[in-house]
Amino acid sequence: MIGVGVDIGGTFVKLYVMDERGDILRKEKIETNYAQGAEGFLKQIAAFINTIKDQYPQQNVAVGVGAPGDVDNQSGVLRYNPNLKFKDVDDWPIADMLEKQTGIRPYVANDATLAAWGVYERVLNRQGTNVLAITLGTGVGGGLILNKELFQGSNGTAGEVGHTKIASTKTGPQCGCGARGCLEAFVGTIGIKRRVMEGILEHPQSILAQMVQKEPNFKIELVSRAAEQNCPLALKIWNDTGFFLGVGVANLCLTLDVDTIVLTGGVSGASKYFLPAMENVLHHQQIQTPFKKLKLLTSQDPNIGGVGAAMYAIYREQHK
Ligand SMILES: [Zn+2]
Repeated sequence: MIGVGVDIGGTFVKLYVMDERGDILRKEKIETNYAQGAEGFLKQIAAFINTIKDQYPQQNVAVGVGAPGDVDNQSGVLRYNPNLKFKDVDDWPIADMLEKQTGIRPYVANDATLAAWGVYERVLNRQGTNVLAITLGTGVGGGLILNKELFQGSNGTAGEVGHTKIASTKTGPQCGCGARGCLEAFVGTIGIKRRVMEGILEHPQSILAQMVQKEPNFKIELVSRAAEQNCPLALKIWNDTGFFLGVGVANLCLTLDVDTIVLTGGVSGASKYFLPAMENVLHHQQIQTPFKKLKLLTSQDPNIGGVGAAMYAIYREQHK
């Protein structure tokens, strides 16, 4: 069997072709083309799938699609997609449209959900029974493996950890979703940048303030470079990030009692700066049982979303 994984992003679409052993046979990255509208965009993806079908005529081809936003995993409809700028659709029947053009019914799910399956297959080799994968980037997403199966909830939205609340919904910082007090508003890149801007107003002489002055459109990695030079402000920003993440993760562990947590996404690259503060929150919980044996890992595999989509499609076809 061949698995095609499609990882739809606001800027790029990544396409992966994989075999049953988990080897990547082909990998492509195309720009998300808004000019052709949603339908034209999906036609481009369908054409790719059809090429793979032609290339492997003896094999069954399974397709998995990870989409950013609120996905109905039963009907394969993307209901809400704030990060995609297609004007011609509201509810987007991805599964129906792709099936019509390729003859293959794809498995469509939220991108972070399928990335969690990628983590389970690639990072953990299916070790662990209950796993929470958290993607740390501009957005903060998550996916759950419960009893060794991908858990998508009643509506397909399980794992939206970024929008769980860790502060007041009246006075907490505003999140990209429109609400206040979400975990993402603290540990997503926009939240971290907000604290950088607040911090450099208070500490204009700091190494971080000087670096930001030279690079006003900085990436989060700049905060790590300042931390590397022992800038107290940068270290504090990472420390606070770890604390907030710890509060959010502690809530999730108390709810789910998972055995493993894997942090992925760009921000997880700074784990050496924020992990100690995060672990400190977990180790000081009054109820210690869910934290005692908890495994906490990080992974920076940039392929994990598309690989997860391809491998989940193969897994589902094999377990029909
Ligand atoms: Zn939110």
